[in-house]
Amino acid sequence: MESFKRLGLSKPILKVISELGFEKPSQIQELAIPQIIQGNRDFIGLAQTGTGKTAAFGWPLLERIDPSLNHTQGLILAPTRELGQQIAGQIEMFSKFMDQINVLAVYGGASIVDQIRALRKPQHIIIATPGRLIDLIKRKSVKLEKLRFLILDEADEMLNMGFKEDLDTILQYTPEEKQVWLFSATMSPEIRRIVKTYMEHPAEVKLNVEKEVNANILHQFTVVKQSDKSEALTRFLDVDPDIRGVVFCRTRQDTQDLADLLLKKNYRAEALHGDLSQKQRDRVMDLFKRKELQVLIATDIAARGIDVNDLTHVFHVALPDDLSYYTHRSGRTARAGKKGISLAIINVHEKEKLNRISRSLDIQFQQVLVPQTREVYSLKVENWCRGVLEKPFKNMLDPKVLEKAKMLFGNLSKEELIAKILMIEIEKWNVGANVDLNFDFPKKSQGKPNNYERHGHPKKNFRAGGKKEFSKKKKSFGKRRVG
Ligand code: ADP
Repeated sequence: MESFKRLGLSKPILKVISELGFEKPSQIQELAIPQIIQGNRDFIGLAQTGTGKTAAFGWPLLERIDPSLNHTQGLILAPTRELGQQIAGQIEMFSKFMDQINVLAVYGGASIVDQIRALRKPQHIIIATPGRLIDLIKRKSVKLEKLRFLILDEADEMLNMGFKEDLDTILQYTPEEKQVWLFSATMSPEIRRIVKTYMEHPAEVKLNVEKEVNANILHQFTVVKQSDKSEALTRFLDVDPDIRGVVFCRTRQDTQDLADLLLKKNYRAEALHGDLSQKQRDRVMDLFKRKELQVLIATDIAARGIDVNDLTHVFHVALPDDLSYYTHRSGRTARAGKKGISLAIINVHEKEKLNRISRSLDIQFQQVLVPQTREVYSLKVENWCRGVLEKPFKNMLDPKVLEKAKMLFGNLSKEELIAKILMIEIEKWNVGANVDLNFDFPKKSQGKPNNYERHGHPKKNFRAGGKKEFSKKKKSFGKRRVG
């Protein structure tokens, strides 16, 4: 706790930190907080996702709000409604031992009337997506003339999403003398423009910018036919029931189609994309957070910034067009110092793109095999048997019914009975045909996958890099012939 105290944080916040069980500040917190908890310099914080940026600006912001003043003092702009809601939730939680600080998230897709009503009460901190905020400013429900702190979170994404003009508009409504704190995973030329136009001699903290991708992530890929991608995904899910993750697709339609398919096959999966109503999106996020879903099938935009603990995997059913999205996608796993796997299920034509990602982000991909159906069966049978063993049965069946079944099965051996019951169970599983889905695996060495790693669970089998890796340095990947 001493290390947090040294950053200048006061008792009410230290108490929350202690309740959360955080042991020491993350690097960005360590470097950013002393710079912004006092003074009036603008600030730029560059750090990869999952490094604790919300607290890095949230704690100092709360320290600097004066609850006795009835106007908006802090504005946090976020690119998506999910991220906005998440930040609002965190800020409220961080402030729980402080004098009442009113925090409100406003975003598109939810009732503007409700938001206008909530804004009648003075809101000390507003968290907003740009479009809805402009709407509310124009309706005079949000007044920013006394704003003191403007925070741009995930600024790179805000620009990617085309919010450049919206940002210009919003900034016009804010006073000159406010402080701007900008947080981003990358420093693109567009961000430089924002910095130049709206910030004055900012202090800058850069963490691992040359290595944007979190080092706790193991990057893997597997090559299958395009039409086999969903089947490959289900095999990975089947062999490891502990997987919890986000599956990225390219379009809203692909996202919905894949979620429908998985649901039909009885996987605990739901889609998250922009065609859903806010209510539906909230429901899906809630189910996912409560661990009632194994996988969330999402578009890049919908899943941006989502912070759900303990995700073991990120799957890419299609690689992103924009390479920086790879960083953001894979950053959904391996959060708060934990380990995770980012697995790209690609077709042979996507190898070049994977190669570009490898080169430009300087990460090494390890090839893994899609599990064979026999592995899937073997694991599912084992799990099913364990379930049978653990099932209590005493006094739950009518003895007469049990007697009758015993009589009918009387002529079957134990072996026959097990086989028949198992067959009935297996027919329900939809495991698919016994086909090797691995498109690009050299058949000769199939018995001994010494050059290729098996897919593993990050908690059980994490190794930073496999035996054969395809990296910028080795240059072997792009030149390999396929077939
Ligand atoms: P970012 O905004 O950089 O993507 P978040 O602020 O969402 O990252 O933080 C990622 C996770 O790390 C959250 O679950 C958060 O509660 C946790 N976290 C933040 N600070 C610390 C800390 N000092 N120690 C441990 N966990 C932390």
